Amino acid sequence: MAQVQRMSRLMVKTLRDDPADAETLSHKLLVRAGYVRRNSAGIWTWLPLGKKVLDNIARVVREEMDAIGAQEVLLPALLPKEPYEASARWEEYGDLLFRLKDRKGGEYLLGPTHEEIFTLVVKDQVASYKDLPVMLYQIQTKYRDEARPRSGVLRGREFQMKDSYSFDTTDEGLAESYRLHREAYQKIFTRLGLDYRIVSAVSGAMGGSASEEFLAPAAAGEDTFVDCPACDYAANTEAVTFALKPVEGAEHGPVEDLDTPDTPTIESLAEHLGVPASATLKNLLVKVDGEIVAVGVPGDREVDLGKLGEHLAPAVVELVTAEDFEGREDLVRGYVGPQGLEKVRYIADPRVAPGTAWITGANKADTHARNVVCGRDFQVDDYLDVVVVQEGDPCPSCGTGLKLDRAIEIGHIFQLGRKYADTFQLDVLGQQGKPVRVTMGSYGVGVSRAVAALAEQSADEQGLCWPKEVAPADVHVVAAGKALQTELALDVSEKLGAAGVRVLVDDRAGVSPGVKFTDAELIGVPQILVAGRRSAEGVLELKDRRTGEREELTIDEAIARLT
Ligand code: ATP
Ligand code: MG
Ligand code: MG
Ligand code: MG
Repeated sequence: MAQVQRMSRLMVKTLRDDPADAETLSHKLLVRAGYVRRNSAGIWTWLPLGKKVLDNIARVVREEMDAIGAQEVLLPALLPKEPYEASARWEEYGDLLFRLKDRKGGEYLLGPTHEEIFTLVVKDQVASYKDLPVMLYQIQTKYRDEARPRSGVLRGREFQMKDSYSFDTTDEGLAESYRLHREAYQKIFTRLGLDYRIVSAVSGAMGGSASEEFLAPAAAGEDTFVDCPACDYAANTEAVTFALKPVEGAEHGPVEDLDTPDTPTIESLAEHLGVPASATLKNLLVKVDGEIVAVGVPGDREVDLGKLGEHLAPAVVELVTAEDFEGREDLVRGYVGPQGLEKVRYIADPRVAPGTAWITGANKADTHARNVVCGRDFQVDDYLDVVVVQEGDPCPSCGTGLKLDRAIEIGHIFQLGRKYADTFQLDVLGQQGKPVRVTMGSYGVGVSRAVAALAEQSADEQGLCWPKEVAPADVHVVAAGKALQTELALDVSEKLGAAGVRVLVDDRAGVSPGVKFTDAELIGVPQILVAGRRSAEGVLELKDRRTGEREELTIDEAIARLT
């Protein structure tokens, strides 16, 4: 027996006009169709229809997380400052963090993401390698004081996220946990009916190395990516890769306090990359001698675009010495050996949004030599993969002209490595009886954002148009007439409900059939079943919301069709 929801008793007030502040289609339609109401900037109330869609998405996410053996938990959203201070994110998050004090002056934050707290939970609960691997997840309210919380639930300041975290003793174990999540995400987004692409991404404030984003193409998206119409190549347009070559005769080594006369500027870098200085550059990944090696920058931080030149030298050419990494293979990304520069990889993340950029490093330890200057000590040898591209540029994989599209980030997976385990000394007893440092992954799905992404991708001029798995009901029965029609509509609704079909029935008295049809199109349940003109004969009309195809059916036929 599935639910039969009567419109006459449902708290829903549809609107004919778009809300004045709405810029995106999903924002307009979710408000007009009575799914959500704005509470304050970036903070939303989920009304009954919206809550159903949100819950449906959460259910799919839960099922696929459970299927890979992840265990559901629920951590607090109100968190003490100390763990975030230990990881330096209390500072690094800047204005994005909601900070508050309790009555005794103790400092707290509202969790924007939970790496720190999960690390501590596992440190408390897990003692031996035998207890690993473990994968934990929660579906929870997150808080980020976003600078521009436009676009409705697409970018909230309070929003729902599924976040999970994996804990392994080996790199292979982490790779496996990451693979399991990647596959689970593919299943989730396919089941939800989302069109999506997987692109490699920079790890941003999370730190760590491997990271991929799940992007849902949509005009309202705030990410741009390139997409090959002929093969499955897709890439974040912000990912730029180039190779460095040591400059002949340059002095290398653990250099300290050299002056930096040739500090490159954003303009010179942009010119070198052949992109406008205003371009969004993210994830500069440098390879040397064809090999990817990593070097972080000293701490994640935001810098002014104007000041980027100053920061670029240490960022671009942080070199590290072999001794710095003695016994720390997990940190070894590159080093300066006896022969001078042997390997260096640098990952920076200057997201040159207007006025600001964001530079990110793989680790924060002072493990780098300073003041080695790009251009003086080594030079750009080759572009390995410059994907700041124009529409029509050849696909690196098959040569077809690329398309430039906008997309919504719906999910993001990271191999964090030992960043947080190092911060909190998360060790377990290893097979040899010695402590082993744990390696972690973190994985997020924007559950409330997925509602908006689905609305963006599936809506049409008439309104919302949900894929079956997430729709607030399977069928919207419309009583289009008087008592006779209402009686038939309720009768067929009961029968459908008894057969396990989720029904929304518009039994409102004193509302014209025209208004009911318009509302049904706006609300967007995939099948619309109308008790109208031929009700006396027991004939109904079934309309497919997406295709608009109609067909007359008897009650029995309709039930057979819909169950
Ligand atoms: P964005 O680039 O859109 O700001 P993010 O990279 O900061 O997102 P993550 O930290 O990767 O987000 O969080 C995991 C997921 O949570 C994102 O992929 C996205 O789907 C969702 N998410 C992030 N910020 C918001 C927000 N403000 N409102 C709704 N969902 C969000
Ligand atoms: Mg963000
Ligand atoms: Mg992002
Ligand atoms: Mg992200």
